Amino acid sequence: MIFTDTHTHLYSDAFEEDQEQMMQRAFAAGVKRFFIPAIDASYANAMFALENTYPENVYLMMGLHPTSVKENYKEELAFVENQFQQRNFFAVGEIGIDLFWDTTTLAKQQDAFRKQIHLAKRYNLPIVIHCREAFNEIFEILEEEKAPDLFGIFHCFTGTFEQAKKAISFNMKLGIGGVVTFKNGKIDQFLKQIPIKNIVLETDAPYLSPVPFRGKRNESSYIVNIAKKVSEIYEIPIEVVAAITTQNSKDIFSK
Ligand SMILES: [Zn+2]
Repeated sequence: MIFTDTHTHLYSDAFEEDQEQMMQRAFAAGVKRFFIPAIDASYANAMFALENTYPENVYLMMGLHPTSVKENYKEELAFVENQFQQRNFFAVGEIGIDLFWDTTTLAKQQDAFRKQIHLAKRYNLPIVIHCREAFNEIFEILEEEKAPDLFGIFHCFTGTFEQAKKAISFNMKLGIGGVVTFKNGKIDQFLKQIPIKNIVLETDAPYLSPVPFRGKRNESSYIVNIAKKVSEIYEIPIEVVAAITTQNSKDIFSK
């Protein structure tokens, strides 16, 4: 059984003390493929170091996270563009709009999101979307930009059934993580109505730990707890969840 964690910040300071043990726990749990979202230029060296240590398992994305869109965002975008000119990445991410932390940067966030969608189209790569309190704003841009060559993942999907269908209509798969195990997470109520070919699994470690680790540091081995919940919802064996969601991740990332 092989699991794919499609969204995990393994380079986070949260793992500074025990990164190696944390990775061994993930491998032991069957997690063999890790897709690593970028945040901003300040994390790039830590990401490259991680890739160097685990070249067979770790696949990097590059992009500017919406909460890192500040006054200097054009410089940050130039860094991202330069990275794509220099080497290969597996997605443009994570990108999007976050109105939970800061609403004053909305116009800049929209600009950065659009520009990075264009980058994804230029390199024929998927996008990995971060959306927090911004469904309308995200959908507005996806509506403008929709095209057969625009595809990707709606990471940490926490919307309604209607919003799920809308995301899928824009060629997006839903990233299902710890929230599916929460009592008040809501997505478990309708997930079964979404064909499983449209979902991928993710932890978003070190954030959003699934039950029974809710509130504690998250790590990629906990993907098993997420997969277990998904297998209960779809009423299929966990091995099948692992196989289908790993295949879905291959379809997206071409890896
Ligand atoms: Zn993330």
